[in-house]
Amino acid sequence: MGLLDQEFTKGGVIVTKVDDLLNWARLSSLWPMGFGLACCAIEMMGAYASNYDLDRLGVFPRGTPRQSDVMIVAGTVTFKMADRIRRLYEQMAEPRYVISMGSCSNCGGPYWDHGYHVVKGVDRIIPVDVYVPGCPPRPEALIGGFLKLQEKIRQESLMAPTAVEELLKEM
Ligand code: SF4
Repeated sequence: MGLLDQEFTKGGVIVTKVDDLLNWARLSSLWPMGFGLACCAIEMMGAYASNYDLDRLGVFPRGTPRQSDVMIVAGTVTFKMADRIRRLYEQMAEPRYVISMGSCSNCGGPYWDHGYHVVKGVDRIIPVDVYVPGCPPRPEALIGGFLKLQEKIRQESLMAPTAVEELLKEM
């Protein structure tokens, strides 16, 4: 049941759960840090431009991990970059999310069987919430990824362990 479905119109009172209220606020105001690593980054930039206007979903890009709650990994993740990605991810405050954009970031892409220099999926170094397929994905696909992420946030609970806590449990 959505936030507005639970509205009590009499007396202007709104009854809802704390989870629903916080989730609604968080999913309506996402601050992604774009991590453009190769050609996929061009499509990511296109998604912010006027034709696609990602801003209308409440998604505003930030230039620093300390002000971001979503990391978009767009492009080829080389072993040289892996440490930097991990370090920037750790600098983001929780709750934080990752969108893996494109085949390279999802699984190594064209380099999956012979790229000695490429990590075969960014989920080997940080937890990924949404995978956007394509080589490169179109801006519409990235927007679809954000809609999926918003749906995921809508289902979250303050009481549930975070992705990092889950990952630490597996180690
Ligand atoms: Fe380039 Fe394709 Fe890799 Fe994206 S998935 S970075 S378009 S090679």
